[in-house]
Amino acid sequence: MSDKPEKFIDENGLRLDGRQIDEMRPMKIEIGVLPRADGSCYLEWGKNKVIAAVYGPRELHPRRMQKADSVLIRYRYNMAAFSVEDRIRPGPSRRSIEISKVSREAFEPVVLTQLYPGAVIDVFAEVLQADAGTRTAAINAASLALADAGIPMKGLVAACAVGKVDGQLVLDLNKAEDNFGDADFPMAMTQDGEISLVQMDGNFTQDEFKRAVELCKKGCQQIMEMQKEALRSKFANDSLFDVTDVVTEDLETVAPAESDDAEPVEVISEDELVEVVFDGEIVEVVLEDDVNSDDVPEPEIQYDGDVEPIIEPDIEDSQEELDNDQEDDSAYSAKEPEDESEPEGEIA
Ligand code: ADP
Repeated sequence: MSDKPEKFIDENGLRLDGRQIDEMRPMKIEIGVLPRADGSCYLEWGKNKVIAAVYGPRELHPRRMQKADSVLIRYRYNMAAFSVEDRIRPGPSRRSIEISKVSREAFEPVVLTQLYPGAVIDVFAEVLQADAGTRTAAINAASLALADAGIPMKGLVAACAVGKVDGQLVLDLNKAEDNFGDADFPMAMTQDGEISLVQMDGNFTQDEFKRAVELCKKGCQQIMEMQKEALRSKFANDSLFDVTDVVTEDLETVAPAESDDAEPVEVISEDELVEVVFDGEIVEVVLEDDVNSDDVPEPEIQYDGDVEPIIEPDIEDSQEELDNDQEDDSAYSAKEPEDESEPEGEIA
């Protein structure tokens, strides 16, 4: 790790990388980069490089994990072993489990979870190159991957961090500012201005805290504009959205029937086929064999320190529960997936 710089802000008010104190690093966004995912996004932010992939909504196995009245959202933040200077030990860590939890919660106010009871939406955020601000970069990418997957949401989520160096608040910390600065304050905001994630490392006065929130909001609004622009440019060129050839009669035949009281998702099993029905229409038919517990591996928790890892209660089972459910699980794990190209294999 490099040494602490003597000064973070020069006499012209510029930071070490030449930015103004309220200026973000350049961002590059590409949507739909993984054809096998239902939605995906590659995002570069300064030297950060992250990729987000979304799978689902799909039926959740094992069934004991299903929620009767809503979809389960799972979010996995992971740093690739090669993403930092010193190789990171692969697998979940205390830090990545915590980031996964708070990032999932950042999406809870926007995803219309009640539409898919019993289903799961998996979000994988992989950090390929890290340079401070990876959790916020991952949230920005995940938001677009969810939109790309067509997950019904009230709006996008954007995230950025504010920190304090040389006694001044700065937007979007770089690595030196993050490692040696006096505070790191990542925040996520929904499209209607609701703050859905706040974390803090370091110290702010009350006044600094208020100003940090305002600065983060400003950053999130800028990011949201970039996210919207990325979605527009992706779907404006997508032939699926090219309506120039559609004539009025066709529109009448393809338009969904108007209904004020849309039925929630209903899963009808018949022989080997599973039909996923939404609002009276079959939206997906899959072979029951394809619905395999291997689709949804439970995270393997590894730690070798004396600190207990943080495990989310809804994915943690007591040994007794596990024993009780063993029969149910083994019924699924006994079936080998026929399709070798399972999506998780691409990411995990
Ligand atoms: P964030 O990336 O969201 O800012 P942190 O503040 O925890 O999260 O980390 C800041 C930066 O420190 C990361 O972006 C990464 O560059 C570096 N970093 C984090 N964890 C490790 C690690 N285990 N090994 C090496 N570098 C790390």
